[in-house]
Amino acid sequence: GPSGCAPLPVLGRDVTVPLVTGGEVTYAALDYAASAPALQRVWDDVAAYAPYYGSVHRGAGYLSQLSTELFENARRTVAEFLDCRAGDQVVFTRSTTDSLNLLAAALPDDCQVFVFESEHHAALLPWRGARVTFLDAPDSPERAVRALEHALAARDPHGPALLCVTGASNVTGELWPVRELAAAAHAHGARIVLDAAQLAPHHAVSLRGLDVDWVAFSGHKLYAPFGAGVLAGRADWLREAEPYLAGGGASRKVTRREDGGVEVEWHDSAARHEAGSPNVIGAYAIASACKALGEAGFGALAAREERLVRTVRNGLADVPEVRFLSLFGDDAPRVGVLSFVVDGWNSSHFAAALSAEYGIGVRDGLFCAHPLLRALLGGDPQDQGECGAPEAAPGGTSLNAIRVSFGAGTPDEHVERFVRAVR
Ligand code: PMP
Repeated sequence: GPSGCAPLPVLGRDVTVPLVTGGEVTYAALDYAASAPALQRVWDDVAAYAPYYGSVHRGAGYLSQLSTELFENARRTVAEFLDCRAGDQVVFTRSTTDSLNLLAAALPDDCQVFVFESEHHAALLPWRGARVTFLDAPDSPERAVRALEHALAARDPHGPALLCVTGASNVTGELWPVRELAAAAHAHGARIVLDAAQLAPHHAVSLRGLDVDWVAFSGHKLYAPFGAGVLAGRADWLREAEPYLAGGGASRKVTRREDGGVEVEWHDSAARHEAGSPNVIGAYAIASACKALGEAGFGALAAREERLVRTVRNGLADVPEVRFLSLFGDDAPRVGVLSFVVDGWNSSHFAAALSAEYGIGVRDGLFCAHPLLRALLGGDPQDQGECGAPEAAPGGTSLNAIRVSFGAGTPDEHVERFVRAVR
């Protein structure tokens, strides 16, 4: 809607929270980048399906057949949402972290992995056992492409290689040049997996259009519940790999060998990596979110978010203590995610005050991207984690940051309240 009225309504709009100053206020959920509220439509779809759910791929009964059909339809809906190519697989996982760990477990022998240090830990860390080249955080999209080209040109051109890169930063919100990075990777015989955890909730992601080999995202950031995610893309590495989890559902045939052991034939389809009873509600909810977002179109959503980003930037432009974090420059295109520090303030105390005094929920810390925060803030930032708030650095500037993020269903009033509170 043009002003304040939210397209794609989400749950939680009427939740009120107590203020330390007395009274209560409606909760301003401005931490979409961690987990977005569920779309009302997703909730309604899941509620309508709940009485009918049954085991997937297992039972002969009507409801089992129905659940199996809904689960496989969900796979098709996700494939359409991601504009998959013929032959691509959609594997349901638990989350983006799970999806990237699955791909890491499926790397061919001697695969060389390239990752920018600015990635979320979920993209930075799963590649244990592979040869990993960490690239410095670039200061422009063009430099990112050049750094990748340089690194790829220096590699052994015969072995397999993979770039793992985010579509939008979970810290700065900045958009990465995915199409250009994919072209550079492919020109050097490497493949690319896109961490779309932050991109997919804000922009259409096309495997075909971006020419990326795989895409990973999480349901809970895409306006669906926790516990389900997706890895979609090329079938070959996945088909050739050992199953991610060994068990029922992944195995086609299991027989005793003469030597007493067991012989297993694994599925070649996505089921190969989906052992155990699948999360049918999670998959169904993701498909529902994909449909709702696809029908609403990302154009209006992105335009609205850009306006809200401007509300924050313009509203705080004359507050010199507020410093926004960016790699590519303050005006670089971004999704509805902004991080900042306030000179003289400890970010944890600041975020706690936004909650206690204004009913605003933001995130503070290092956002599971420690090397990036170190590059942006200098010094040795500390995650407050569960260990209490870190002290401010000498001179008063915090060694961690505050992140505000929003999306579908965010009322203008929440963002305006945030600006007022920070001022
Ligand atoms: N990548 C990015 C860019 C993220 O923002 C996140 C979540 N903060 C993840 C990966 C991990 O997602 P999940 O926690 O759902 O596995």
